[in-house]
Amino acid sequence: EPVLQLQGITRVYKQGGAALAVLNDAEFTLFPGQSVALVAPSGAGKSTLLHVAGLLERPDGGEVFINGVATSQLSDDARTALRRNTVGFVYQFHHLLPEFTAVENVMLPQMIAGLSRQRARARALELLDYLGLAARAKHRPAELSGGEQQRVAIARAVANAPGILLADEPTGNLDPHTADHVFSALETLVEATGLATLVATHSQALAARMTRRVTLDEGNVRETG
Ligand code: ADP
Ligand code: ADP
Repeated sequence: EPVLQLQGITRVYKQGGAALAVLNDAEFTLFPGQSVALVAPSGAGKSTLLHVAGLLERPDGGEVFINGVATSQLSDDARTALRRNTVGFVYQFHHLLPEFTAVENVMLPQMIAGLSRQRARARALELLDYLGLAARAKHRPAELSGGEQQRVAIARAVANAPGILLADEPTGNLDPHTADHVFSALETLVEATGLATLVATHSQALAARMTRRVTLDEGNVRETG
């Protein structure tokens, strides 16, 4: 069964007097364990697609299924609850809380989900260790390199064991060497957990390493190999 399915998704933005259909009857299906690269020019609608898929934004038409659950009729609160249990996000900029350490940043979503401090800490340390950051757990974001910050952001995104990871240019702010390092960490995690990932990226080299590649073409998702 797909973890994520987009059916006939339309998203229209009003720009001045005009209407811009960024997504236009878009279809997309993501299965467990798949890692899919979304490669398309700036302005093609990649962020919009990720926001709609991750229930951050409601489409103007169509249906988003998460683990087979239709989401369009759910209340905002129900969508938020579903998102917290099923979807992790990584952005181009880490958005870690600066006053908290790496391990605390990874603990936070778990504590919001109701885990005890002890269990959240144990899981956070395990994840950081897995991503090669054991020695960095007590550092604040400003004390970490760009690559380390992004790996902490990845750990935070998967802390609640979501089945789906959505990433918007997760290595877009990094030099190629560091991007490669961060991407490898992500790959290791995907292989170990069976996480399904959709990653918007400008990097053809990184896209080539993923199991599937798609693009956005006039508001539709098109497979490219
Ligand atoms: P990408 O991530 O591929 O660069 P986006 O999804 O960010 O593309 O944006 C697609 C198009 O939609 C762009 O033309 C952008 O200007 C427009 N757009 C995005 N968000 C909004 C918004 N909230 N209001 C109006 N237009 C928007
Ligand atoms: P990564 O590939 O994980 O981004 P880098 O190659 O950028 O790592 O950095 C190598 C090491 O140098 C890191 O483990 C980090 O400890 C240290 N380092 C890099 N930049 C900084 C920084 N701005 N502040 C503190 N330490 C840094």
